[in-house]
Amino acid sequence: MRHRIAVVGSGPAGLTFARVLHRHRHRHRHLVTVLERDPARDARPPGGTLDLHEGLGRLALDKAGLLTEFQVLSRPEGQAMRILDTDGTVLRDWRPRPDDRANPEIDRGQLRDLLPGPLDVRWGRGVTHVVPGARDGVVVHFEDGRQETFDLVVGADGAWSRVRPALSSVTPHYTGVTMVETSLDDVDTRHSGLARLIGDGSVAVYGVNRGLVAQRNSGGHVKVYAQFRAPLDWHTNLDLADVEAVRASLLTLFDGWAAPVLDLLHHGTAFVHRPLYALPVSHTWPHVPGVTLLGDAAHLMPPLGAGANLAMLEGAELAESIAADPEDLDEAVRAFEERMWPRAGRWAKLTTAGLNRLVGPNPTEALALFDQVQPS
Ligand SMILES: Cc1cc2nc3c(=O)[nH]c(=O)nc-3n(C[C@H](O)[C@H](O)[C@H](O)COP(=O)(O)OP(=O)(O)OC[C@H]3O[C@@H](n4cnc5c(N)ncnc54)[C@H](O)[C@@H]3O)c2cc1C
Repeated sequence: MRHRIAVVGSGPAGLTFARVLHRHRHRHRHLVTVLERDPARDARPPGGTLDLHEGLGRLALDKAGLLTEFQVLSRPEGQAMRILDTDGTVLRDWRPRPDDRANPEIDRGQLRDLLPGPLDVRWGRGVTHVVPGARDGVVVHFEDGRQETFDLVVGADGAWSRVRPALSSVTPHYTGVTMVETSLDDVDTRHSGLARLIGDGSVAVYGVNRGLVAQRNSGGHVKVYAQFRAPLDWHTNLDLADVEAVRASLLTLFDGWAAPVLDLLHHGTAFVHRPLYALPVSHTWPHVPGVTLLGDAAHLMPPLGAGANLAMLEGAELAESIAADPEDLDEAVRAFEERMWPRAGRWAKLTTAGLNRLVGPNPTEALALFDQVQPS
């Protein structure tokens, strides 16, 4: 009998898992289906750039056999990082050496196009909940009322996972920090001053309890993130769909910062509101046969460059664990969980402390953090 495996979610975690398992298909007899709520691959804008670290995301791509393709698409120069004071003074201007390939950047959209390859991704299959413990497996319930039974359900469905409640009653909490995101296109031709400010990689400016970060993506596209400590309902008197009202509100929030820095907020034509949530550090669950979690579904943490990396490595490791022990799915999953939890806990601790230093009362902490993690 072939084991039926459902992967809920086609983000970095789910796709890496399915892709690595596909690579080992000659050694196992599983039927793997990726169930994705989005109606199509390009149904939503894919988001910004990701730096994939040696030993994490890049190791996962290696396990998927995709390192060469990744190297063609990735931007090692995108590792460059400049830190400014709120008056525009350059405090740090770090550029990678020409041979530095430690944390190259790739657009999330490029990664999303690279990973699926031959996989069976079913679009428009939103899951509402899963019920383990049935005699013939785990029952997956879909938004359209249908249901299907699998031997293993891998919840890779992100922060607001619908699979997680089968294992844990924990839900994400607000970190106290909100991001508001906007974008710039053709930055080199249309906003050459900002293009120089941002350089090849990122620029970050930190003030008291707030920061402005801009990251270059490929093709002259830039994502700008305003980050600030605020209660969840900070926008009660603001229409978030009113672009000019949001811009004015942000400009008030960053009042007094140097004009070239504030220019990052002047040109975007839409703003996306992203309050940052996290699961408790060291989130685990009593093992339940037939269901597990990967990535943000398992350990949502502040976005400090680890989430997608961990999600991909976990996907690759779960696939390898199953491929190594194809007859005993449950033992393979149990072994994987024992390996995932302590590492995710360490990163959750680091990123939580990191967010408090980056967006906190003392901006020199942000600089100190940069000096701590960035090779000089
Ligand atoms: C602004 C920002 C910048 C970031 N930058 C970085 C970075 O530089 N490096 C890094 O490593 N990480 C970064 N992260 C974190 C990273 O984005 C996440 O950790 C990563 O995307 C998690 O991957 P995932 O596959 O677990 O979940 P997701 O990427 O959230 O994918 C989940 C998938 O599941 C689907 N889905 C959801 N619900 C259902 C359902 N009910 N049924 C079916 N499908 C469903 C979704 O549509 C989606 O396709 C950043 C995050 C943010 C917000």
